[in-house]
Amino acid sequence: MKSAPKLSLAIPIYNEEEVLPELLHRLQAVLDDLDGGPHEVVFVNDGSWDRSRELLDEASARDSRFVVVHLSRNFGHQVALSAALDHVTGDLVAVLDGDLQDPPEEIPRFLEKMREGYDVVYAVRKDRKESWWLRLSYALFYRLSSALSNISLPLDSGDFALLSRRVVDHMRTVTEHSRYLRGIRAWVGLRQVGLPIERAERFAGKPKYGTLALLKLALDGIFAFSLVPLRVAGLTGLIAITVALAYATHALYVKFVLDISPQGFTGIVILVVFLSGVQLLFLGVIGEYLGRVYEEVKRRPHYIVERIVRSSDRDAP
Ligand code: UDP
Ligand code: MG
Repeated sequence: MKSAPKLSLAIPIYNEEEVLPELLHRLQAVLDDLDGGPHEVVFVNDGSWDRSRELLDEASARDSRFVVVHLSRNFGHQVALSAALDHVTGDLVAVLDGDLQDPPEEIPRFLEKMREGYDVVYAVRKDRKESWWLRLSYALFYRLSSALSNISLPLDSGDFALLSRRVVDHMRTVTEHSRYLRGIRAWVGLRQVGLPIERAERFAGKPKYGTLALLKLALDGIFAFSLVPLRVAGLTGLIAITVALAYATHALYVKFVLDISPQGFTGIVILVVFLSGVQLLFLGVIGEYLGRVYEEVKRRPHYIVERIVRSSDRDAP
């Protein structure tokens, strides 16, 4: 009989001292129930300044399945997750948030689905527990980004997923800086399937994503996977020129055939302001891409590891 594949869990942690004891407890229970092993959990401490650091180190000393990668400062959720993907060693890798919104108890269901021969099983949110306006923004965003992009981004799915080793390896070859992992995951392709999962409420503590950070993630999702905004700029220009030509013809006709001088100062002001607005907007869109190009050509590393804590290190002579 083939031995059970080694499972790794990849979990970013940023100031989750209130959640960690419960998280560690529930992870242990889930891992104990799985076949095979030893499995592992790679926590990436994304520059926490609360007690998360100590709690994680203690956990790794107690349980050799827990590995902690401490980053040198806060790099953000997506980068922390990428760091986790760089350090996992399993044949299968589950990606989940550290606030228990992605219930670890669902992992066996992912594993079961995976056995049907998939490379990616991603969670599709059955229903969200956030405020109505956040739910509306999410719904609009996912539809907009998948309409704009040339790869098929699954709707309403976050980072919670189970990945095969080869998908992780392919994702790691995508070295771009603006990391939108669920997009990169979809970009890799192979056999992917969604699994409806109830998204729980954050167990404790505050969300670490502010509105601005969410907006940045949304922009990454659109600009990193689509050139449509640039094309819309060109198209808008074309429409403006056509309208202007038609209006010019009309004005000439009125002047020379009907002998009426055109009037309307207000109209001119509105037009000038409107078109300057359009121009500035698209300058912004071009700037958005230019800024991203600049980020990429700098070729900075995505993150810096301060140290890695594994209890096997301590056992070594
Ligand atoms: N997180 C992180 N770095 C950050 C922000 C968040 O590692 O800069 C972690 C956080 O600890 C949590 C996960 O990413 O485990 C998701 O964060 P959060 O729950 O705040 O995001 P939301 O659920 O609101 O999207
Ligand atoms: Mg959360």
